[in-house]
Amino acid sequence: MVKEEILQNINTILKFKSTKEYDEFVSKFEKLFAKYCDCKDSLAVNSGTSALQLALLFLGIKEGNEVLVPAYTYAASAIVVSNIGAIPVFVDIKPTDLTIDPKDIESKITNKTKAIIAVHIHGNPCDIDPILEICKKYKLNLIEDASQAHGATYKGKKVGSFGVGCFSLHMSKNLGAFSSAGAITFNADQLREKLLKYVQPDNDTVEALNSGRTPCEMDAIQACFLIPKLKILDKMNDRKREIAKLYDEFITNPSFEKPVLNDKSISVYRDYFIMCKDREKVFKTLLSQGIGSKIRYKKPLHLTNTFKYLGHKESDFPVAEKVAKEVLCLPTHLGLSDEDIIKICSILNKIT
Ligand SMILES: *Cc1c(COP(=O)(O)O)cnc(C)c1O
Repeated sequence: MVKEEILQNINTILKFKSTKEYDEFVSKFEKLFAKYCDCKDSLAVNSGTSALQLALLFLGIKEGNEVLVPAYTYAASAIVVSNIGAIPVFVDIKPTDLTIDPKDIESKITNKTKAIIAVHIHGNPCDIDPILEICKKYKLNLIEDASQAHGATYKGKKVGSFGVGCFSLHMSKNLGAFSSAGAITFNADQLREKLLKYVQPDNDTVEALNSGRTPCEMDAIQACFLIPKLKILDKMNDRKREIAKLYDEFITNPSFEKPVLNDKSISVYRDYFIMCKDREKVFKTLLSQGIGSKIRYKKPLHLTNTFKYLGHKESDFPVAEKVAKEVLCLPTHLGLSDEDIIKICSILNKIT
């Protein structure tokens, strides 16, 4: 079904004769995606990184401003901040679901702080309510990096609808295009025009930005894949949740810690992680039986070479550091059967 629709879409765009037709085709995805995310509108771009960077730019974040980012995330969540000359300020995470710890946010706020990038890491929604409260109190913008959480909900509402939502639609994510793509979701009416200036810069905008910004629209071929795949996203997410439930139920080895979500959040489990004291051993044991697990992410951002210039040291973010040492992501491919997952659990349960 999906494959046929993709081919049909490609046939359709091959016949297009004007850029307007391409734009309209991409708009079709934008409308569907906004609706899916409980948002008024969305803007399709060429990657998750572009989405985040554009969000920062159009929110007026400038050189020297500070932006709060969790210390444990995919590096792109923070690199976008330094890319525009602003300063990423790290915040520790919660050991239960690995999202930004609202209790660690306030002590990191200064008069230069302009925004918080909350990352719904591994598909787990952040604690939105306390984060929004802090944003209101200090007049900060909320940017959600929802690149791993398409369809995840907090209090029944989709992530990406609480602040400015930034999504990667890279082929490796829960909702993936043919190669690279991304989207921004938002609720304010005038944002579209403002954002478009950055996505399709004209001579005036480039000058105003003074940074030779390059265009970053999504190309129509990505929409050919994304439109049909969006229709089955809920079904794919449901299966991920079933897999997670099996791991929850069948991993009984007390040496592993399993994810614990807050009761308002429903995850889409881009990854199902466990914490293991002897990660190397678990990784190798699984591999010896043909099971590939992933270490995401080996280093918290404050200890990477990329952010060395910020001058952090070990023990600055204890939870992020412990997690980076112990986290192991188990397979959640949709092709795996219940029996496959239960087998992985029984291997894990035998590890002493
Ligand atoms: C993948 C990802 C990004 C970057 O998205 P690209 O489409 O690869 O540019 C940013 N943040 C998170 C959390 C991601 O997982």
